[in-house]
Amino acid sequence: MELATSLRGAAVAILSDLGVQDREDYNCLVSALAARFEPTNQSEIFRSQVKSRVREKGESLPELAQDVKRLVRFAYPTAGVELRDQLALDCFIDSLGDAEMQWSVHQNGPKSVDHAVSVALKYEAFHASRKKQGMPRPVRTQSEVAEEQNEMADAVRKVEQTLEKLTQLVGASNKNKGQGNYNRCHYCGMAGHFRKNCNKRKKDLEDTVQQCQINQETNRNAESYHLSGNGPRLG
Ligand SMILES: [Zn+2]
Repeated sequence: MELATSLRGAAVAILSDLGVQDREDYNCLVSALAARFEPTNQSEIFRSQVKSRVREKGESLPELAQDVKRLVRFAYPTAGVELRDQLALDCFIDSLGDAEMQWSVHQNGPKSVDHAVSVALKYEAFHASRKKQGMPRPVRTQSEVAEEQNEMADAVRKVEQTLEKLTQLVGASNKNKGQGNYNRCHYCGMAGHFRKNCNKRKKDLEDTVQQCQINQETNRNAESYHLSGNGPRLG
């Protein structure tokens, strides 16, 4: 308290940014002063704090809004009021930790954190009454969304693993085919039919038979030609 009462000028303004409890907390007051007067070092820390700020269980919306405003003030000590309000508004919506509520607040296009708080409170009251009536609340918290995303990622991973196994199996069976010539026609070497059903073999056989017939006919013709005495003598 001594430090708090001995502050002057710009440092006094820091007090108004702090809650009553924080004001009496020496460490909190020192860090607040440090943030104001050593912005380069401390503001980084507050920036990461405000970015990762998520509404705690049982924390009221006005409490959350006040804390976000406080963190933004320390995180962006040199920013103008307008910019700081906009940053606080964005950070507040981000910190709600409820995708449906965030969407609802965002849809209302709030101009300030206080406006966003009133929209969020209405949303909360509406869904609280629905819950009382036994209506399921169509709300997914960030943890539920994250859980669902994890499940999806697991499913995708399993599918990928199965695909990889299948790819390996197909690769192995192709190798076997190459090595053993299983399930291949022993006549033409193509897969999908056996030797006895091979079309190439049938055609080749027909060609052979036809060729034999042609040869026989040619021989007969030649014989009769020679026998007629018109050609040179055979032998
Ligand atoms: Zn064949």
